[in-house]
Amino acid sequence: MIHDLVRYQFDNKSSLPRENVLLVSLGCSWGKCAFCDYQDDKASTVLAADTVNKKVLAEVKGVEIGVSCLDVTCSASYTELPFTTMNYIRETCEAKSIKTVILEGHYIFRNSNEYYIDFFRQRGIDVMFRCGVETFDEHIREDILHKGIPHVSPEDLSGYFQWINIMYGMEGQTVKQLKTDIEIGLKHFKRINLSIYTSVPDGPQRDSEGIKAFYDSEFYRELMANPRVDIFDEWDDSNSHNVGHDI
Ligand code: SF4
Repeated sequence: MIHDLVRYQFDNKSSLPRENVLLVSLGCSWGKCAFCDYQDDKASTVLAADTVNKKVLAEVKGVEIGVSCLDVTCSASYTELPFTTMNYIRETCEAKSIKTVILEGHYIFRNSNEYYIDFFRQRGIDVMFRCGVETFDEHIREDILHKGIPHVSPEDLSGYFQWINIMYGMEGQTVKQLKTDIEIGLKHFKRINLSIYTSVPDGPQRDSEGIKAFYDSEFYRELMANPRVDIFDEWDDSNSHNVGHDI
């Protein structure tokens, strides 16, 4: 079912100003991550996905607002967007002088990356790939979150992805582990998106105290000042972390 969500945002607070589009896929074929309540946002036909995606991409302004980066996400992986949508993305980039497109997806699709690189390079557009890693704590990531990347090292990941997502704020996580995750992330990847966890039905619990401890820490201020790290928090009412609320 296609949900009613905020699908276009302009992130002008990051050191990498970019337009973000949340597109509609045909569904996540992994579908097991314990914290994921967004994979239901999908279309049952290519036509239905394309119809929404065309509308969302029509909001992209690119050079008109001095931006040359488009961040594409969907409730699945980039490989699960219809290829017609991928064409619309490329056309939009060309029309709006976008020079870099960011595609986000699961590690299982890593061998597809080269085809997407070629596809966009034909029009002079670079691709950055982002992968949801969530944590380098193997026990939490695989036994609790069911992320589906067991025994994959940061070196393995960085051979295919330049950017990772880290998640913090679930019961069982600690600021100490977050520091380790960020340290590994900064060593191996160009950028990190740090998402503060929002609880989902039947998923891990949100650890409000742990989150407060993080926000009160010097480490948080260091990360806010680090141009390679963007922090997202859907519960942040003042929206200083630049995450829009669902409609
Ligand atoms: S791969 Fe992404 S969309 Fe699929 S279940 Fe995991 S978090 Fe959700």
